[in-house]
Amino acid sequence: MSKKFSKTLDPDDWEGFRVQGHRMLDGMLDYLESIRARPVWQPIPGEVRESMREPLPSQGEDLDGVYRRFLESVLPYTAANAHPGFFGWVQGGGTPVGMLAEMLAAGLNANVGGRDQMPVEVERQVVRWMAELFDFPDSAGGLFVTGTSMANFIALLVARTRALGDAVREHGLAASGGAQLVAYTSEAAHGCVAQAMELAGFGRAALRMVALNERFEMDAGALELAIQADLAAGLRPFFVAATAGTVDVGAVDDLIAIGAIARRHGAWFHVDGAYGALARLSAELAPRLAGIEQADSIAFDFHKWGQVPYDAGFVLVRDGAAQQAAFAAPAAYLRRDARGLSAGSPWPCDLGPDLSRGFRALKAWFTIKVYGSERLGEAIAESCAIARYLADQVALRPALELLAPVSLNIVCFRYRGESGAADDQLNAALVADLQESGVAAPSLTTVRGRLAIRAAVVNHRTQRRDIDAMLDALQVMAAARLPAGVPAPSGPAAA
Ligand SMILES: *Cc1c(COP(=O)(O)O)cnc(C)c1O
Repeated sequence: MSKKFSKTLDPDDWEGFRVQGHRMLDGMLDYLESIRARPVWQPIPGEVRESMREPLPSQGEDLDGVYRRFLESVLPYTAANAHPGFFGWVQGGGTPVGMLAEMLAAGLNANVGGRDQMPVEVERQVVRWMAELFDFPDSAGGLFVTGTSMANFIALLVARTRALGDAVREHGLAASGGAQLVAYTSEAAHGCVAQAMELAGFGRAALRMVALNERFEMDAGALELAIQADLAAGLRPFFVAATAGTVDVGAVDDLIAIGAIARRHGAWFHVDGAYGALARLSAELAPRLAGIEQADSIAFDFHKWGQVPYDAGFVLVRDGAAQQAAFAAPAAYLRRDARGLSAGSPWPCDLGPDLSRGFRALKAWFTIKVYGSERLGEAIAESCAIARYLADQVALRPALELLAPVSLNIVCFRYRGESGAADDQLNAALVADLQESGVAAPSLTTVRGRLAIRAAVVNHRTQRRDIDAMLDALQVMAAARLPAGVPAPSGPAAA
């Protein structure tokens, strides 16, 4: 009904629009307040999926009608990471505070690529807080990005420019004069590290996947040997990416040892702390990340353990000038001045590839201000305690086995069957059963060649009863799938 927006795209009837707006706000607060009563996830019915398809609408519809469509067709069928029973992958739950901050940011419609405005100062303040948290100098650079995939890529580009100088921006990798640059990460690194090597022009073959020790951490001795071998072959080691909280099992590499090796060889020391880095907010967990304060750069996500709504990735670079050297470029239309709107250089657009950028910093700033670092750290520590509880429950049930030590918040376990491919099939079926039941949503991964049910406890809403509900449902589902006589993953053995 375009006559509702006859003069501009703002409503003609602000009063009526305001009422509608409050209805929508209340609707989302209701959703969050009662989320526990919903199924974690439910398959999208064919007709709902189909109902989304329509030709480009030439005429507008009533806002309330579109909102109702959202309530019916979108809201019930998300991937459910806001739900306390969601344990899939590594995803944060978000908070009502973050939701309100997103609304404020959208209302301002701030473009935080630069210019002299307080939204840029808000982002700079979050950068200063992160420098404080990780013991980086005041001169550190930092930037909000979509996620850690992008943050890792940016860190690699900064390291590339430091290794090859400004010439790499002009001539690309030809600037290396034929020297072949090589990077190192572990076999447990997230796939985006290899992808960053592709995107940065080095190619995956220039990335060494260092073997793991028995705790699934990068084997520091193997890293040293790999670097020695490359040096002997005339190659040039320039980048080492350790992981703080591996995506499969939550292992934390020995950051002190790996950082020392990187430094000894003059290589950039990067930490992919996508979800794990913010464990530093917890006094109890911070010692597990010892050495992270020595990193040249850290990539992490506020949208995982920081509980900030998606998306809110972040890259922190010790040498802010090096970050600027990798990205800042003169452009007539982006000219800087000492006064007016063009003041305040450097701008966020000088620190990464994005020019237009949203106000992600506001939801992180609100989250940190409203909850405080201690409370956020407690939520992180609590999710580790709940993961240990799950590991204990697995140990108590003879039909279940743990496939990796629980370092932080990820538990990889499986139903113990006869062995081999049949077991993998059974565990895959059980995870799909669980997801479709709406009771819990773990995901799958492979641990040392065996398919694992993987439960990552990231959501601040998750409680022990959610773990109990998952294990009880698993017991029922396994019983339904197993031939008579085979033990289902029943309750505690002796208890
Ligand atoms: C989640 C994750 C990533 C990717 O982060 P995105 O925010 O999804 O881009 C990278 N590394 C690790 C260890 C992760 O857990």
